Amino acid sequence: MTIKFTRQVQSLPASVPFVGPETLERQSGQTFLARIGANESAFGISELAANAITDSLNKGGCSWYCDPENHELRSALALKHGVSPGCICVDGGIDALLGLTVRMLMEPNDVVVTSHGAYPTFNYHVSGFGGTLKTVPYKNAHESPEDLLAAGEQHRARLIYISNPDNPMGTWHPATTIQAMIDSVPEHATLLLDEAYIDFAEADAAPAFDTSNPNLIRYRTFSKAYGMAGMRIGYAIAHEDIISGFNRIRNHFASNRLSQIAALASLGDSAFLPKVLSEVQQGRQRVYDFAQERSLTFLPSATNFVAVDMHTADKAASVLAELNRCRVFIRKPAVSPLDRFIRVGVGTESEHNTFVTEFDKATKS
Ligand SMILES: *Cc1c(COP(=O)(O)O)cnc(C)c1O
Repeated sequence: MTIKFTRQVQSLPASVPFVGPETLERQSGQTFLARIGANESAFGISELAANAITDSLNKGGCSWYCDPENHELRSALALKHGVSPGCICVDGGIDALLGLTVRMLMEPNDVVVTSHGAYPTFNYHVSGFGGTLKTVPYKNAHESPEDLLAAGEQHRARLIYISNPDNPMGTWHPATTIQAMIDSVPEHATLLLDEAYIDFAEADAAPAFDTSNPNLIRYRTFSKAYGMAGMRIGYAIAHEDIISGFNRIRNHFASNRLSQIAALASLGDSAFLPKVLSEVQQGRQRVYDFAQERSLTFLPSATNFVAVDMHTADKAASVLAELNRCRVFIRKPAVSPLDRFIRVGVGTESEHNTFVTEFDKATKS
């Protein structure tokens, strides 16, 4: 039978952008003891958020559609960031917002620029909507704002993507560098600044918000520091005309009532984030210590994971496979020259100890 796919869908390879830990568990028939491979939080959600969810469930709250305008949450976010609610679009996570962005701003065959080995979901959406990807290499394990801009100019790109802090390397640029990049975006392009990990970074990693700039979209999420990856809620901050574009194409119920309630309650829990950040700092230090004790180089991280250098891609791949076999879920960067690193997530202390034990077994010669 020949299905009449659109030309675009016909042209796409069958691909699985993320092999989930659930898939690996089904394949191996065993469950993971440490789940530190997907940059998820090991430290739960705000107690106020958990209570708000339960309360809503008890009142039949999830039988109702969510507020399609996300009014209360946008108001709270606007207050937090000092921007107008009209400059915020809430949706089902950054991943969903990146898809909407591509659909909104990129025609088929338009060129977009990203770094070779950067966050793959963006590339997935670009391919899905028929764009052409151009990549520039990482420089010293950092995404390179200058090279991204130069490639953007050269190819007359519509979109330029950067994440700060970066996934998969955990490195970051200070706000001054990012601001200089924002100031140099060519007129034909929009800069997509993915700040999924910004909560974990020092305060000087984020430039001030300026929603008068029509060439910039910034992305934030409740998936990482707020521990809500499974609830799918994130937001974009941009010029209100860009937000009105999102509002013409978004699925108005893409997030959901319980996520809205939990996100709002989390923002109102002033003790929660500092507690998580302190846990993550201690967890990063555990990974630094682990690496140092074994004379392995690591990259100082502004995220909830640490890239540890295994010297060769083969070594990194074999250690990773052995760890996964021994019920420790971790991942690594996919492309050279980043692929000689393994990406060690900050887990609970017990997950970390399991990781260390299995790592030592996997690497003893
Ligand atoms: C985890 C991650 C995301 C995904 O965010 P969601 O809000 O869960 O969709 C986006 N960008 C980067 C760089 C990430 O690492």
